[in-house]
Amino acid sequence: MAGRHCIFCGRKGVSNEHIIAKRFRKLFVVPGDGIPLLRGTGDAGVVGMWQGPIFDAQVKRVCRDHCNNGWMRAMDDQVEAPLSRMMTGQRCELTEEEQNAIAAWSVRIAMLYQYRRIPPLPVAAERLDWFYRHRKAPPGSTVWLAASAPNPGYTLYSMRWSATRAEDGAEHNGVLSTLLAGHLVVQVFDVPGWERMHFTVPERLKGFDVQIWPSSEFIRVWPPTHALTPEDLGYFVMRFGHPEREWNPSRQIRGSTLG
Ligand SMILES: [Zn+2]
Repeated sequence: MAGRHCIFCGRKGVSNEHIIAKRFRKLFVVPGDGIPLLRGTGDAGVVGMWQGPIFDAQVKRVCRDHCNNGWMRAMDDQVEAPLSRMMTGQRCELTEEEQNAIAAWSVRIAMLYQYRRIPPLPVAAERLDWFYRHRKAPPGSTVWLAASAPNPGYTLYSMRWSATRAEDGAEHNGVLSTLLAGHLVVQVFDVPGWERMHFTVPERLKGFDVQIWPSSEFIRVWPPTHALTPEDLGYFVMRFGHPEREWNPSRQIRGSTLG
C-alpha cells in the first residue's frame, strides 16, 4: 500500500507497525501459536476480538518516521512505567498527568485496532486529526482502568455502539474497546459528538473501575476495590448494553448482571 497516507499526519507512505509497542510484550510469556482473528460480519454489535497475542497485531496505516518512531514512541515512553506496573499487578498511584497520558495511549490503541478488524472500521478523519494535533483523549471519550483477578492473558475486544440521544434525537455511533493485558484492563468508550457522557453506577457495581478520562486532579489508585473475574470481564466488555437498543446513559447500567 505504498500510496496510502498516514492516518494521523497525512504524510505519504505507511509501514507495518505494532498496535501496541513491542516493549510491553516483554512482560508476558508468549505462546507459540499464531494469531487467529475472530472474524466479525461487520454488522453493528459484533464483537471483534483478537484471539491471539494482541502484542503481535500490526496495522499498516501509520508512517514510520514522523509518527510511529516520533510522537507515538514518546507517548509510549511516558506511559511505560505505570503501565508495566499495572500489567504485572503492582499497585499504582496515578497523577493527573499520568491519567491523561494513559488515556491518550488507550485511545490510540483503540483507534488503531479499528483498522485490524475485518472489515476495518475506519475512524473519522476529524477524529484522527484532532488526536494528532492534541495528543490526548478527545471530547466524547471516557477511559477507565479495571483489574483482572486471575491474569488470564491478553486480548482486545471491540464493540460498535450506536444510540439516539434523547435531548436532540441525534444518532451517535461509537466504539467500546476493552484491552486486557495481564492484570490490567483498559476500557475506552469513544462516542464522537456526544460531548458529555454521564454514567450513573449503582452502589453494588461500584469499585470495579477507576476513571482516568476525563481525568481528575486527585490521585487515582489502581487496582480498584474489586477485580474482575473472567465471568465479570465478559460482562464488562459489553457493559453498555446492546448497541442496537436505544440507550440512556444515565440508566444504562441498571439491570446488569454484574455483582
Ligand atoms: Zn504520520
